[in-house]
Amino acid sequence: MTRYSVERFRAAVLRMYLRIALLLTLPLSLMYYLLDATPDRGLAALLFAFFLLGLRWRTRHDSEDSLRYANWFVLAMLCLMLYGTFISNEQLRQEIWMMIFPISFAPIVAARERIVWTAVGAASIAVAMMMRPEVSTAVTTFVHVIAYLTLSFVTLLLVRHNEQNIERLAHLSIIDPLTKVYNRGYLKDVLVGEINRCKRSGLPLTVIMLDIDYFKKINDDYGHLYGDSVLEQVAGALRHAAQRAGDYVFRYGGEEFCIVTSGLNRDEAWQFTEKLRLGIYALDIENKGSPHGTLTASAGFWCVYDTSEITPSAPLLNADNALYRAKEAGRNTVVDFDDIPVAEDESPQAQGVTA
Ligand code: GH3
Ligand code: MG
Ligand code: MG
Repeated sequence: MTRYSVERFRAAVLRMYLRIALLLTLPLSLMYYLLDATPDRGLAALLFAFFLLGLRWRTRHDSEDSLRYANWFVLAMLCLMLYGTFISNEQLRQEIWMMIFPISFAPIVAARERIVWTAVGAASIAVAMMMRPEVSTAVTTFVHVIAYLTLSFVTLLLVRHNEQNIERLAHLSIIDPLTKVYNRGYLKDVLVGEINRCKRSGLPLTVIMLDIDYFKKINDDYGHLYGDSVLEQVAGALRHAAQRAGDYVFRYGGEEFCIVTSGLNRDEAWQFTEKLRLGIYALDIENKGSPHGTLTASAGFWCVYDTSEITPSAPLLNADNALYRAKEAGRNTVVDFDDIPVAEDESPQAQGVTA
């Protein structure tokens, strides 16, 4: 669900490769037919172009599913390059094309498949060179295989390095640097995904808004740096309480957090929200500015049973409205949005009406 991912990058490279390969092979095939008068070579390029057109059609939707066809593309590339190696001769040496084989498969297939394709490529180049009409010496074949393996090694290294950077960027783009919980930018992606998942499974979705009480006093009394460390501790407590697969903790902004979970009924959602609130209370952090003398938090939640027509903003608005009620009720408490009387609720999303 991350916005940057290695799979997305691979799928984008595959689509680019298909486009470039099509642009090259169609004119190449025509040139073999018209200028070179070698119809068998023209036919090979033409067959490859048709195969590419098929793959292009299959991968027309801009999605990571395209990667299912990556190995087919690699296999077709290998066949074409081997054909070139086989028909090459002293005047037209074509085994050099095999050297671009690692570049063709490394960025689009998974790590384990790369090793397999590297070995297949090395074996194929040796066999093709030994089988071609014009006999190559063992030394020439050996030199080509070594050159091929060296290029493969360098390519695999560069591709791995690039993928590690993408993974790092993907992580950084969704994590809040101070509290290490997810950031607000990622919240919308998760909500869209969770709403769809709940639609399919029929499970209820719960969105909780939680805000630290009298946090400004902490900053005023103990300093901003101490305030930062309190935020880290609160985030740690929330992460500790929301550990199930499918629980998500976000820093919504400042000292406000949003928690998304699914599969709980209203009672369970209440208990879960209470557990979050009590987890913060249990940190036992002094707050002289609070009537309790200790750090507390208020929370509002909305448990949505029918997710079929809601937009991501509706549960956020409703949970935020419930949080507002919790603050009004004296703080250090939890309010269920569905307990707010309709007449009192002035939000545009009252009672789950979708935007
Ligand atoms: P309430 O009980 O109504 O929520 O009162 P509050 O004081 O918690 O809320 P208010 O919105 O008045 O103040 C929030 C404070 O949070 C103000 C702001 O300086 C502080 N804050 C926001 N982000 C950070 C941060 O990253 N670090 C620190 N130390 N303080 C922050
Ligand atoms: Mg606050
Ligand atoms: Mg706040």
